[in-house]
Amino acid sequence: AITSATQETRSTCPYCGVGCGVVIETRDGAVTGVRGDEKHPANFGRLCSKGSTLHLTARPGLQRTARLLTPELRATRGEPGRAVGWDEALDAVADRIAATIATHGPDSVGLYLSGQLLTEDYYVFNKLAKGLLGTNNVDTNSRLCMSSAVAGYKLTLGADAPPACYEDLDHADLLFIVGANPAFAHPILFRRIEDAKARNPALKIVVVDPRRTDTAESADLFVQIQPGSDVAFFHGMLHILLWEGLIDEAYIAAHTEGFAELKRLVRDYTPGFVAQTCGIDVETLTRAAFLFGRAKAALSLYCQGLNQSASGTAKNAALVNLHLATGQIGRPGAGPFSLTGQPNAMGGREVGGMANLLSAHRDLTNPEHRAEVARLWGVDDVPAAPGKTAVEMFEAVRAGEIRLLWIVCTNPAQSLPDQNLVRAALDAAECVIVQDAFTGTETARYADIVLPASSWAEKEGSVTNSERRISRVRPAIAAPGEARADWRIAVDVARRLEARLRPGRPTLFGYDDVEAVWNEHRETTRGRDLDITGLSYAVLDADGPQHWPCREGEAPVARLYVDGVFPTASGRARFAALPHVPVADAIDARHPFRLTTGRLRDQWHGMTRTGTLGRLFGHAPEPAIEMYAGDMARRGIGDGELVRVTSRRGAMLLPVRASNAVRSGDAFIPMHWGEAYVGGRDDDGTAFTGVNALTTGAIDPRSKQPELKHAAVRVEKT
Ligand code: SF4
Repeated sequence: AITSATQETRSTCPYCGVGCGVVIETRDGAVTGVRGDEKHPANFGRLCSKGSTLHLTARPGLQRTARLLTPELRATRGEPGRAVGWDEALDAVADRIAATIATHGPDSVGLYLSGQLLTEDYYVFNKLAKGLLGTNNVDTNSRLCMSSAVAGYKLTLGADAPPACYEDLDHADLLFIVGANPAFAHPILFRRIEDAKARNPALKIVVVDPRRTDTAESADLFVQIQPGSDVAFFHGMLHILLWEGLIDEAYIAAHTEGFAELKRLVRDYTPGFVAQTCGIDVETLTRAAFLFGRAKAALSLYCQGLNQSASGTAKNAALVNLHLATGQIGRPGAGPFSLTGQPNAMGGREVGGMANLLSAHRDLTNPEHRAEVARLWGVDDVPAAPGKTAVEMFEAVRAGEIRLLWIVCTNPAQSLPDQNLVRAALDAAECVIVQDAFTGTETARYADIVLPASSWAEKEGSVTNSERRISRVRPAIAAPGEARADWRIAVDVARRLEARLRPGRPTLFGYDDVEAVWNEHRETTRGRDLDITGLSYAVLDADGPQHWPCREGEAPVARLYVDGVFPTASGRARFAALPHVPVADAIDARHPFRLTTGRLRDQWHGMTRTGTLGRLFGHAPEPAIEMYAGDMARRGIGDGELVRVTSRRGAMLLPVRASNAVRSGDAFIPMHWGEAYVGGRDDDGTAFTGVNALTTGAIDPRSKQPELKHAAVRVEKT
């Protein structure tokens, strides 16, 4: 028999923000294997359990059963759709959007996007909303991921730019890991941490987390703080650093402003007060402060434990304060380094694909920035009114302000907090358009129009990882069925809407291919902090993934602020004097447990992809609530029994597992399982919708990121 040769295509893993390079192996038009790209600077050939099984999620059998294959229109929600051709579906989308705008105005339409989208997808959707529809109601699930890190960076350093890079792991002598569990959530980065420690046994690792995670097991010092007490902890450290003379007064004087106000604030954060607030002892707080203050190069790694909080901006800023006060920034191995959750939350921000942003990190509230973007796009203006952010958007849908919702590549009926509100909103919406690659999501049942999208191994474009490095995503196989690239669907709708909304005028969406989209995006970055005018698809293809900024004629910049000059009006970094604020959802007698949420090692988000593989359930076959054994014994709850967990917003039923990882009074539920896995109804009709039945929609006032990480709950034997 004649067999064709295996072909190889270099691309990027679609899961987390580490951004590992993959080599996709294909034969006869089907994916047959995947391996780590040894040339990719994020992973040098390594892949974690999720990345190394990617090929199995793209095998032909699954393509037929788990994927959306044709556009569908539905007369009644929840019923099977009527398969239609693309023209009919796209006409329907354009008709519904145009009619909604004609009757209720542009702000009656909302677009809810995803950090899984490629930069080019994001760019077109953002331009479609702000440049054509005339609404800033375009936000994304990146709001649930990185917006507090963004707000923290902008408040203190002046720009949304992580200053460090992965190479800094090799230069640090202290890793300060806070509110992050890279052993599970960023596994290949964690391998690099382990390598750094093996090469340099003097490297100290401090882990600060409410849970004794696998990452915490690697720590020289583990600080098990009470959920939500991070700001107090950081201020307490600064209080000690000041007292002990471990701050860098010369750096503060030369490169910062606002220290006097912060100094006044942290005066009250005495070791005794902080120890009590955080539920730790003074000695542990002091050790952490001394390790940080005496480090030659301290690198902080942090993620959702700081971000997913109603005081997420304050948490981020308080950590950056520590780096500024000790001069631990802009040097090899030193700096605050936020780890991106999603694969392209960074790229989405770069193109301004959020309700408060414009292209290339421009601000919507800045009239000059709006004028610049309007000029670049060739439109009369960009609307000034801020759009609705993720949680606000669903509140506006429920209130009838937003009537049409276009949801792209995300599953808000599983992933947003306070599911009762989200589902009431989806029920109330006049029209829900769901554009996705996979079937069977909780959100799909609310869809009036379904648009099948292509996915990993089928799409082309680019993504940016945690260290500001842009990688190419390349197609290795054709998309199954009728599925199309997300950016192409957006263009197809936009062209139809242009005929209705700006007839007779030249198109704003005249892209021949995805590279044309990227080139337009690149032009918007000229002169901006993320200037990538020195890059092109050809450069990325020839030289591999590159950091931004990379200005025309210059080399890419891996580490920022080495000259001590910051992108603020004064050129100085700003200390932020923000106080500790307790969690939004306080415990009381009826809800006495502090529930935290997070990731498992082998699952990704709502499991649309990882949930298709049996082997990825080997690590954790079912959802469970982790509780302290003593708390279970006091309630007469045995290991493995079913319990009902109830918050002020909802309830869920799941098994309990005794755990040494959580302290008495704390509990933990993984985020991944939704209704599809823990479905069903209680006697009183309560639907079990997964952990986000319990979580709160309380949001940070600056970043608008919800407090997904913490909820007050009670746990009862069933
Ligand atoms: Fe993919 Fe993240 Fe694993 Fe790398 S660490 S293989 S990017 S999931």
